[in-house]
Formats: sequence, structure tokens, C-alpha cells
Amino acid sequence: MDSHQLLPLLVLLTIVSCVQMQEYRLPTNVRPSHYRLHLNLTEPTFTNASNAFHGMVIITLSSTELTNTVSLHAHHEFISINLVTLSNTDINETQYSINNDTDILTINLPGQLAAGVSYNLIIDFTGQLSTTEMTGFYKSNYVDALGDTVYLATTQFQPTSARRAFPCFDEPFFKATFDVYLTYPLGLNALSNSPGWVYTSDNVSETTQFNTTAVMSTYLLAFVISNFTCTEGQSIDQVPYRICSREETSDTRQWALDIGPSLLESLNSLTQFNYNVSKEKLDQVAIPDFAAGAMENWGLVTYREMYLLWDPEQSSNSFKQLIANIISHEFAHFWFGNLVTCNWWSETFLNEGFANYYQYHTTHEALPSWELDKQYVVAVLQPILINDGLINAFPLQNNASTPTEVLAMFGQISYSKGGSIFRMVEHFMTTAQFQAGLRNYLALYQYQTVLPEDLWSTLNAVINNQTTQLPATDLGVVMENWVKIPGYPILTVSLSGGHVMISQERFLLAGSDNTSKWYVPISYTTSEDANKFQSTVPNIWLTPDSDLHFDLPINNASWLILNNQQIGYYRVSYSDSLWNSIRDALQTENFDGIIDLNRAQIVDDLFNLARANKIAYSRVFDIISFVSNDTSYYTWVPTINGFNFLLNRIGLNSTLGEAIALDEATGDNKDAHLRDYVRFYQLKLSPFTAVHIQSLMENFYDSVSLIVHDEDDQIYTLSQVLALTTACRLGHQRCIAAVEVLFFIYRNSGLRPNKNLRSIVYCNGLRHSNDQGDWEFLWGEYLNTSLASEQSTILSALGCSRDQELLERLLTLSVTENSGIRSQDALSVFSSVLTGNPGGVDVAFKFLRENHQLIVERYLSMNALPNLINNVANAFTTEEQIEELEEFIENGGLPEEYLPAANSALAAARANQAWLEQFENDLHYFYFAPASGAFSVKASLGLAVLLAVMCRLFVN
Ligand SMILES: [Zn+2]
Repeated sequence: MDSHQLLPLLVLLTIVSCVQMQEYRLPTNVRPSHYRLHLNLTEPTFTNASNAFHGMVIITLSSTELTNTVSLHAHHEFISINLVTLSNTDINETQYSINNDTDILTINLPGQLAAGVSYNLIIDFTGQLSTTEMTGFYKSNYVDALGDTVYLATTQFQPTSARRAFPCFDEPFFKATFDVYLTYPLGLNALSNSPGWVYTSDNVSETTQFNTTAVMSTYLLAFVISNFTCTEGQSIDQVPYRICSREETSDTRQWALDIGPSLLESLNSLTQFNYNVSKEKLDQVAIPDFAAGAMENWGLVTYREMYLLWDPEQSSNSFKQLIANIISHEFAHFWFGNLVTCNWWSETFLNEGFANYYQYHTTHEALPSWELDKQYVVAVLQPILINDGLINAFPLQNNASTPTEVLAMFGQISYSKGGSIFRMVEHFMTTAQFQAGLRNYLALYQYQTVLPEDLWSTLNAVINNQTTQLPATDLGVVMENWVKIPGYPILTVSLSGGHVMISQERFLLAGSDNTSKWYVPISYTTSEDANKFQSTVPNIWLTPDSDLHFDLPINNASWLILNNQQIGYYRVSYSDSLWNSIRDALQTENFDGIIDLNRAQIVDDLFNLARANKIAYSRVFDIISFVSNDTSYYTWVPTINGFNFLLNRIGLNSTLGEAIALDEATGDNKDAHLRDYVRFYQLKLSPFTAVHIQSLMENFYDSVSLIVHDEDDQIYTLSQVLALTTACRLGHQRCIAAVEVLFFIYRNSGLRPNKNLRSIVYCNGLRHSNDQGDWEFLWGEYLNTSLASEQSTILSALGCSRDQELLERLLTLSVTENSGIRSQDALSVFSSVLTGNPGGVDVAFKFLRENHQLIVERYLSMNALPNLINNVANAFTTEEQIEELEEFIENGGLPEEYLPAANSALAAARANQAWLEQFENDLHYFYFAPASGAFSVKASLGLAVLLAVMCRLFVN
């Protein structure tokens, strides 16, 4: 699954602690081997009149021991059982019951099941399609070209929702084959995992029978009953390949048709286990309402429309990349997840980590100029290092029992940390050995489920230890702490003569942990190496039990940088003198051979060291001043992330912001003193002046253009969007003036901006507008387009307006039925208001306070409210906002189940405030400190001015 909006749910876990004493897992003595499932949906189900359907399932099962109990899953809200029989014996309804908390259907048999004998358990039931949550078997709809609302029925079972569609053993461990029969009204068509054909039909309905599936877990089963049409593309190894969607979108299927075959062939070749061994066809379907990004149902992959359908004229390069990436992610699951499956959701990373890793690396094979292998560092690794630097981060493998805990395993740790850890292992083993090991793993465990130790032992068997130099008896020992404990290390390095010393501790943004240690593979490059940063096998390993001391082969290296290409999952800090050498090297021509990915690593590590209070910000700005000469996309992503974090924390109404405001027009004495310094340093062209941030960006900004578009150059286009988005957001006058013209032309002549610049033009067009008509115009454009990528771009921009009334209206539309905003998009509307402008925080918070009940009903599933409270609290910058949150928790009528989450968000806001207070004091100290102090006046003034300017520019 691609987890579009399944955010980490830390806060939710406390809510359900009261019910954790129950057993949520099924006993393993009774196991299914085959399901014959028949679902019958009649005409009223495809209208507003009914959500009911009739179902019957015949489960062939056997027991490993004598037993008179069978336990399986059925969700009481969606399944009501009519009749249960076991091998022709009716079971009295007093002999079975569903536990409403655990979803376990327990059947007490009149006799005993013998061990090793097959039985048929038959359950006749009435099911209900869900209309509020996009999980289980649910109803979606869309408005067709004639203006009619058209309904369809579709599924999303992962991780625990197959039980909402039919009684089943709903855990990944219980694999079986499936024969599916679907009955539906004439005029519609049905898709499932295997090829199907019409089995019977009459005047009103027809039944499609589907071929028996491969052996698989219940969560991978899928059905779509709709009036969708399909376009067939090039077959892949004799497997028919189709893209299906509502007919109106048929001209946007081509990109997925084009790119799919090469991605699947690349994975066939990587795994040496062809897709056609398990499946006879591959359909990919775009669903109008879809909660996750996409789902890897074997043979029937489902997507949000914007992640599958791409219009070459209207959809941006980033959507094009996202679609290729997500298709790769789902295809990778065919092997990592579908063929070989995590034993239980505690080990979700065995599915999602591989899918995350290969979604970049398979796409890179197909489209090498997009540099997705390099993009992985700034798009996946660096963000997860921040997430995993929190004291309450999950370990990769984590106990999960209830459906809520299971859902929490689909947070970014399983995806991005899982993928980043596999990347590290591939490089310390070498790609050839890693791939050989994975082929053995797939061959050995095909159609089964696995634990992490199964993976490590298979990989261990092929390790060439002359290259890898494992520091422990086997790979399982080396990997244990990477899997079982949260977080990761920061290495501290010093160099004296040719002697290197390295120590480790857990990196935490706040808090401390003196016990966690890891086996860390270390590669490095020195100033004297001829082949800089190219080798990614370990030069040496750091072990958990001691610091590392060793001598470089040469003793005249002026600098040493660890972690070539940022392959290892850790951060690095250096001694003062080593930081000085690195800073000086970065100032020389061609950055003294320090490659872009390692420049990105240095910037990202420095900003996060400062955030963790392990280095002063003034020192960070000193070392990263080289970015003014750097136009690499990879350097600029972490640079902008680092500045954005500061900007978000400081806010506009802070004491610091007021104290060092630069407004020449307001001349009170407090500020006059500062302004003199500012002028002085501006005249000196000090790197720390009021124009610091924009001067840092100037070369990067000039490396792209608002007018010159090169859609075939993916990295140029990514840089273009990043530079212009940031410059316009920071108030760069040329940038704003240009996009205002483009918005004016769009509104007055209908000429849309270049597809890659639309997010910038739409957002800044509204941000700098005083005319409500501009917003109305764009809202009208939203309602008029049926292209999902364009809808998404517009929705994100509507929150950029600074007009409070419009923002409130937008939020109200997000909870209004038939407003045009789908429930799946409500969260992104809220987020656009929250982040579009500083003033949006208060608007979003007010809306949340007044509408929390509606949010629970209308926003995506049960996770929405705790996540929103958390996001809002994280955006707070003032004491008043925090007090309002306290008041809301005490008297706001928030249902009790949400109070733990709200209190946790409050604690996070307080922690942010404490961080800020410490930082503000430092800044004031830096500014007023004498030159002989710990930090120079120049540096401290520069820092203060820089931040003030960023705050100030942000409001323009
Ligand atoms: Zn996935």
C-alpha cells in the first residue's frame, strides 16, 4: 500500500489501551486452504436506496489437532450471519458469536474436527457496503459527463478489512486460494484478481466467475464492480496489461500504459521470478474515492485517480514522477508482500520497506535521467531521519495487536526507514550479493510468510565477507538493533594527524538515551582520495561495545567526511577543527570534490544538529555559506527544509520578530540601535545581512527561469519548482511580480500557466490578492475540471489566500456533503489552510474547535481528528494559542476518547515553545554579546537579522 494519508498514529495508541487485554489474534490450529466466495449485488445497491448485498462463502479448512472450535474474522457492523453449516451439518445460532471488539467469530462445533482432515465451512450472510469509510467493501461515486451520479462498489482490505466484506481468516499468515463469483446488475462489469468470464446471466443481472487465484493472504483480494472502461496496452511476458477508469478519463491512461511494462520487466529481471508464474493478468484501476495512495491487490491494483491518470498537457512533471514511482511501489509488492509476506503486521517493513526502496530504484532503471536513486536521499532518507529522531519513534519491528495498532504500523517508519535500511544493507553487501540473496529469499519463501530473521539468514548465506567484513558472527546479529530498537546513531568524528576517533550515541531531537548502540558500517572519503565518495562498501565498522580508533593510510588529509553518498542510516558530527576544514573545502572551486549527495548530507545533518541543540545556528550558517555557490537540487532541498523549520517555529508574532523588526518607518529607540547594525553589515556585504537568505538563493534562483521550461529535463524542472516556490514564498519581488502577471492572464484570458508552475501561480496569485473574485475564479476552475491532478493543485492553492472569510468558507466546504470536495481530499484542504499563510493557523484552529464533530464524520476515517489536533498544535508559535488549546481540552466538548491525543498535542506544543524560548534567548545573547564572547557579534547579528528578514518576508 502506498500510505498517502496514513500518518503515524502515535497519539491514537493511548486511546485504545483499555481494550488491549483481549486476544485479537486467531489461533493457528485451524487453517483455511481455499475459499469459494459468491457476492450478489442488486440494482438498488448502485443507487442511494440500499447498501446491502448477499454473500456466501465456502471455506475449505483443516485442523492440526482435535478441536471443537473454529475462530475466524467477521466485522459485526458489516456482516450479519444468516446460516452456518460445517460439512452439511447446520450450526445453531446459539453456537456462534462475533466479539465486537476483536471481530473474532467463534463457532462452537457440535462435534470435533479431526486433525489433518478437510472440512467445508459454509457461511451465508448479508453484508453492508461502507459509505463513510473507504475501507472494506465500499461504495464510491462520481458525476458523469451527463451530470448523473454514478455509483460503484470497490474494496480496500489491507490491513484488517477483508472481514468487513466476508467472514475469513483475516491475518496475512492464513494464505489460501480464492474462487470468486460476483453477481451484479446488467450494464456493469466486474473485476477481481484473476481473469473472469460471464458464468450466468438473466434479464437483470449477470454473474462473473474468476479463475482461481494464487495462494495469497486475504488482504490482497479485491473486487471492483462499476461501469469503468479499460484500455489494453502492450502485454508483459504474455500477461495482458490494462488501465481502467471512468470513461471520461480515458485519454489520461497513456502514461501508465507506457511506463508499466518496463517497470514490471525490470522487477522480473531483478527477482528472476516472473510475474506470470503467479498471475495471468494485470489490471490497474483508478478509483474516484480512495483513502490510501494505491493498493497492490495481486492482479488488480487500485489507485487514487491522480496517482494513475496523467494528462500530458495539464498534469505536472511531479505527478508524472509520482505515478511512475507509485506504480513501481505496487509492482514491487507483487514479490515483496504478495509472494513472500510479512508474518504479521509487526513486520510490515518486510513488505513496505522493499516496496519503498524499489519504487525509486526500479523507476531509476527505467528512467535513469530522473536520478531517482539520488532523489531517494532527499525525498526519503533525510525526512525519515527527522521522524526517527523523536523520542517516541517506533522500532521497525513493533508489537501490534488491535486494528488501530496495526494501522499505526503503516506509518513512515515501516516505509522509509525500512527502505533506507535495505539500501544500507545492499551497499555494505554489494548489489550483486544482495540481489542474489533476495532471489534465494523469494524462491525459498514463495507463497509463505516470513520474519526478519528469515531474510537476514538468507542474505547471510551469500555474503562475501572479504568485501563486507561483518563485525559479528552473522548478519542477524548486525541487524538486530536496527530492527528492534527505535532511532539511529549519530557518529562523532575527530581527526588528528592521520588518527581518526569515532564514537556513537543515539541521535535525538530532544531527550536522551545512553544505552542504544548499533553495528555501523562506515565508508569515508578524505581530501586526498582520488576516487572521492564512489565506494559504498564499508572501510571499517563501528561496533556497539567500543569507540573506534584507527589510522588513515595517509596522514596529510585536510578533511575527512563519513558516509559516502549518505548510504548509512546515521548522522555525522565532527570536531571543531574538522568542521573548519570541511567548511574551507566547501568554499573552494568545485567544493574540493565533495559531491552533491554529501553536500546535502552535511547541510541536513547540520540543521538537525542545531535543532537538537548540539551546535549553534550561527556556526551552521558559517559552514553552509557555500550554498550560495551551489545550484544543485540535492543541496537545496535540505537547505530550504532547514530554514523552513526555523521559520515555522519562530512565527511572526514572536518577541524576537518584534525586537528585531526591520521596518524603517517605525523608528522607536529599541529598534534604531539594531537598524544601525543592519545597515552597517549590509554595506559591508557581510554574508550575515538582511539580504542573506535571498543572496544565498540568488544563484540557485537564477539557475532556473519562470519562462524557460524544459519538461524533458526532470531535475531542472524539480529545481525550477523548488526555487520559485521558495523565492515567491519568501517575498522575492521579481518572482511575485511575474506570477501575478501569469495569474492575471489566466483569469482574464483563460490561458493557463505552464503546468509545472501552476501550484506557484495559483498559490501566490491568491496570497497577494485583495480581490475575492480571484479566489472565486479558482474555485470555479476547481469545480469545472474533472482531472484529479488539477483538482489537487487547485485545492492546495485555495488555502494560500489571506482572506479569513474565504479560508473559513473553504474549510466549511470540506465538511459539506456534495460541495465538490471529496472526503478523501478534506485533509489536504485543512492542511492547505494551516500552512498557506501564518494567519491560517488560527483560522484552522478555530474551525477545528467549532467543528470537531463534523470533522470526525466527514474527514477520512477515525484518524483525522487526533492528527489534525497534532498538526495544529505543532504550528503554534504563541502562548495565547497554547492557552486556547488548553481551554478547548477543558471545556470544548471534545469526546473523552480524543483527550489523550489532545493532551499529547498540547505537550508537543509546550515542548516547541520551550525550544523556542531557549533559542530566542540565545539569539538575544548573540546579538548583544561582546565580540570577544563565545560567538562574534557579526555572526550573532547575522543570525538574528536573517531570521527577522525571513519572518518579515514571509508576510509580504
Ligand atoms: Zn506499499
